[in-house]
Amino acid sequence: MDKRITVAIDGPAGAGKSTLARRIAAKLGFLYIDTGAMYRAIALWAIRLNVELSDMHRLEQLAEQATIDFLPGESSILLNGEDVSVPIREAGLGEAASKISQIPAVRRALVKRQRELGLGASIVMEGRDIGTIVFPEADVKIFLDALSEERAERRARELDLPAEIVAPEMEQRDRRDRTRAEAPLVQAPDAIYVDTTGMSLDEVESALLKIIRERTSNGKERTH
Ligand code: C5P
Repeated sequence: MDKRITVAIDGPAGAGKSTLARRIAAKLGFLYIDTGAMYRAIALWAIRLNVELSDMHRLEQLAEQATIDFLPGESSILLNGEDVSVPIREAGLGEAASKISQIPAVRRALVKRQRELGLGASIVMEGRDIGTIVFPEADVKIFLDALSEERAERRARELDLPAEIVAPEMEQRDRRDRTRAEAPLVQAPDAIYVDTTGMSLDEVESALLKIIRERTSNGKERTH
């Protein structure tokens, strides 16, 4: 594709955003940016420094001072030069990220970085506010969803924990993400809603690639 394309994927936890965004970016040769990983990285830094997750002032400083980069072609995230891809996935980090993501100044700092990362390249960026706040002019917006039972099962498989343990934490996190005052998780009016309940990853990937191709070639299906 000749023009720079921005694909925004939003949705709740466990909808399959990360896996699918990564696969789609690889297929299209676009840069993949996982914005949840950025909130997780700031939360990890705060925990390591023993900063309270309610300390808005210190968290704002951390978000502004952090250097966050993604290694192209991989899904590794660097925080101040350190690859933190593994520790940000530890149990509790999703919850901690959700708490700090309510702080407007933290969001401001990370949204600024997200926009910079999106400059100059075709990207697939996923999170909660990409189509609404970060890139309201995105070429393609997708809202990925699935029934909460299935999302909890997927998350449980990822974390190797029982679904009964994962489900309440995930529901609480989604409720917080959907009801917060600043940039809540909502579907952009011009986003395409995709319910992945009961679909395989391959099926969702094909559906998303079809949407992207249709939207970026004026409805003319491309063969590559
Ligand atoms: O996507 P992931 O589950 O890794 O995100 C962790 C948390 O980061 C989310 O629950 C949400 O609170 C926050 N987040 C956000 N905005 C984004 C991406 C993630 O508020 N664009």
